[in-house]
Amino acid sequence: MAVFAVVGAGLSGMTLARELEQAGHRCQVFEKSRGRGGRLATRRRDGWQADHGAQYFTVRDPEFQQEVDQWLASGWAAPWSVTPAVLDQDGVQSSPDEQLRYVGVPTMNAMVQGMSEGLDLFVKTRVDRLERVGKQWRLWDDQGEQYGQFDAVLLTAPLAQSLALLPPGSSLEVPLRGTSAMVPCWALAITFSEPTGIETDAAFVKTGVVNWLARDSSKPGRVADPETWVAHFTAQWSANHLDASDSLLEQQCLAALRRLGQSELPPVSDRFKHRWLYARSGAETVIEQAFDANLAIGLAGDWTQGDRLEGAWRSGHRLAKTLIEHWA
Ligand SMILES: Cc1cc2nc3c(=O)[nH]c(=O)nc-3n(C[C@H](O)[C@H](O)[C@H](O)COP(=O)(O)OP(=O)(O)OC[C@H]3O[C@@H](n4cnc5c(N)ncnc54)[C@H](O)[C@@H]3O)c2cc1C
Repeated sequence: MAVFAVVGAGLSGMTLARELEQAGHRCQVFEKSRGRGGRLATRRRDGWQADHGAQYFTVRDPEFQQEVDQWLASGWAAPWSVTPAVLDQDGVQSSPDEQLRYVGVPTMNAMVQGMSEGLDLFVKTRVDRLERVGKQWRLWDDQGEQYGQFDAVLLTAPLAQSLALLPPGSSLEVPLRGTSAMVPCWALAITFSEPTGIETDAAFVKTGVVNWLARDSSKPGRVADPETWVAHFTAQWSANHLDASDSLLEQQCLAALRRLGQSELPPVSDRFKHRWLYARSGAETVIEQAFDANLAIGLAGDWTQGDRLEGAWRSGHRLAKTLIEHWA
C-alpha cells in the first residue's frame, strides 16, 4: 500500500484519489478553496443558484461513458435537453445538433461531491511547497503547516499552479512547459424579476465580448423561478478587463441577451460575478507521460488530456492506472 498526496479537489483529483483508494492505497487530498469541485462550480444565492464554471459535459470516450452511466444511476448527473442556438452578426441561427449534453444534479459539482465520500480531504489548505526527504515527500501549506510523509505527490491544479509546485529537474517539466497557457474567463449570473420570453435556452455567441449564454434555470434539478441566466465572456475581453465591474458585465450581458430576440427585458433582480483566472487551455493537448517515477511526482488535470470535463476525468483515471501498476 502506498500513501499519496493529491493536490486539488477538482474532478481530476477526486477521480484519481477515489480510484487509488479503491485499489487499496491511501490518499490525502489538499484543496485551497472552501469546497470540492474546482471549475465544476455552482454558487447558491437567496432562492436561486447558478453554475458559473463548466456549463455541461459531453462524452466521446466509451470508458468515460461507463463512468457517466454510474453518475446517472447514482442521480449525480442528468441529461440537459438543450440545443444551443448560434448568435452571429446575422442574428440567431438555429443549430440542430445531435450532441447529448449532461449536467451535474442538483449542482455542477454533484459528481465530485459523490465520489469524495469517505476520502481524507483538507479544504482551505493551499499547498505551497514540496520537500523530498529520502524517498518520501513532505508538503507545506501557506500557513507553514506540514503534512506527510507521502510516497508520491500528484499535482492536479491548473497548469500555472502545478508548474509552481513542480520540483526542479523533474522529467515532467518539458511536456508541461510545452503546454499552452490557460486563459481567463469572466462569468456573470443574473436573475430576472419576470420571465424574459427568450425562446432558446442557450447560445454560442460568435460576435462581441460574450461567447456563451445559458438559461441556467432550464437545467434539470434546478428551480425554474426566478429565471436565471449565465454569460461567459471571451478570453481576450476577460484578459483586457480583469477588474471589470458588476455593472459593466451586466450591461454587456444584457446587450447580448437582447440580441437573442427580446429587445425589452424585465428588470434584473440579483446577480453575481466570478473571474476564472485559469479557465481553459483552449488546446486539445495530451501529455502521454504524466508520472515521473524517479521523483515520484504525477500530473493530472484537464489541460493534460484535452480541455474539458471529460479530459479531467480521463487524466485522473489514466494516472491512477499508471500508479496502481507501478505500486503493484
Ligand atoms: C468558465 C468555464 C466554462 C467551462 N465550460 C465547460 C463546458 O461547458 N464543458 C466542459 O466539458 N468543460 C468546461 N469547462 C472546463 C471544466 O470545468 C474543466 O475541464 C474541469 O472542471 C477541470 O477539472 P480539473 O480537476 O482538471 O481542474 P480544477 O477543477 O481546476 O481543479 C483543480 C483544483 O486544484 C485546486 N488548487 C490549485 N492550486 C492549489 C494548491 N496550491 N493547493 C491546493 N489546491 C490547489 C483548485 O482550487 C481546484 O479546486 C469550463 C471551465 C470554465 C472555467
